[in-house]
Amino acid sequence: MLFLTNISVKSRLNSWIETPLIENMPKNIVLMEIEKVTWELEDTKTLRLKWPEDYEPIYKTGQFITLYWPDCPKYKRAYSLSSSALDRGFFEVTIKRDGKMGTRMVDWAEEGQKLHVIPPVGRFLPVFEPDKHLVCIAGGSGVTPFRGFAREATQSKLTTRMTLLYSVRTPKDIIFRDEFTALEAENPHFQFQVTCTRADEADAWQGRRGRIDADWITDRAGNLSTAIFYACGPTTLVEATESLIRDTLKLPKEQIKLEKWG
Ligand SMILES: Cc1cc2nc3c(=O)[nH]c(=O)nc-3n(C[C@H](O)[C@H](O)[C@H](O)COP(=O)(O)OP(=O)(O)OC[C@H]3O[C@@H](n4cnc5c(N)ncnc54)[C@H](O)[C@@H]3O)c2cc1C
Repeated sequence: MLFLTNISVKSRLNSWIETPLIENMPKNIVLMEIEKVTWELEDTKTLRLKWPEDYEPIYKTGQFITLYWPDCPKYKRAYSLSSSALDRGFFEVTIKRDGKMGTRMVDWAEEGQKLHVIPPVGRFLPVFEPDKHLVCIAGGSGVTPFRGFAREATQSKLTTRMTLLYSVRTPKDIIFRDEFTALEAENPHFQFQVTCTRADEADAWQGRRGRIDADWITDRAGNLSTAIFYACGPTTLVEATESLIRDTLKLPKEQIKLEKWG
């Protein structure tokens, strides 16, 4: 069954995550080592968090974990998993330098350091039914959970169609460009489409330019009745996408899943 997942997660989380009472925390918080750090862009980093021995969490692709540093337990922030639930032994999150936690993670996190991890939760889950078409709409770092979606669909050789419509300022802002291109080559049901909103005229970018609009969505989605739309990232992009789908395309809320980062 489909349902609208319009969670303003950050606002919901804030009341919970800023509690100063460490003893009231859920018991299943796990300390994990940063096993690997990968620079994706000059302001964006992927952290691989190694599961401790015998840790076998049950979770789903598309969920988020909540992280905090041992020296600052009051300050917790949510990060979507950019790995899939079929990747075992670690979680990966991909973080943009933004705000206090985003800056600390990108500028200071190093291999060998440890972070507290509140296990995955969330309902921004891919519906991998064969007759559905997942149309995933992302801006900037909002693409992170869709790497998990595309990985799982490809790893499991699913026949569900998935189209990623990704808006970035310029070509150098595309996160996971090589991986999405490789997944598209491997998986005949996955399409990776990018639009650049601020590529200047001299830029050699051959792809689409301009904002995500209803015409582009309609053109790429094809049969709208089987589409399930996912939008993730900063609130402005997610709300603009929701309005395009609901008000312009007149599709019901059951076909829309949203993850707002606040
Ligand atoms: C479910 C969920 C999943 C998420 N997944 C990801 C993810 O995969 N990757 C990712 O990078 N982020 C993700 N986020 C966002 C992340 O949780 C943090 O909010 C983010 O890293 C910013 O850190 P912060 O909250 O400490 O920023 P804060 O310091 O609280 O700042 C919040 C915002 O205000 C702006 N700001 C701060 N101070 C000023 C000022 N003086 N003037 C103007 N603007 C200011 C900051 O630039 C920032 O945009 C997710 C959020 C949620 C709720």
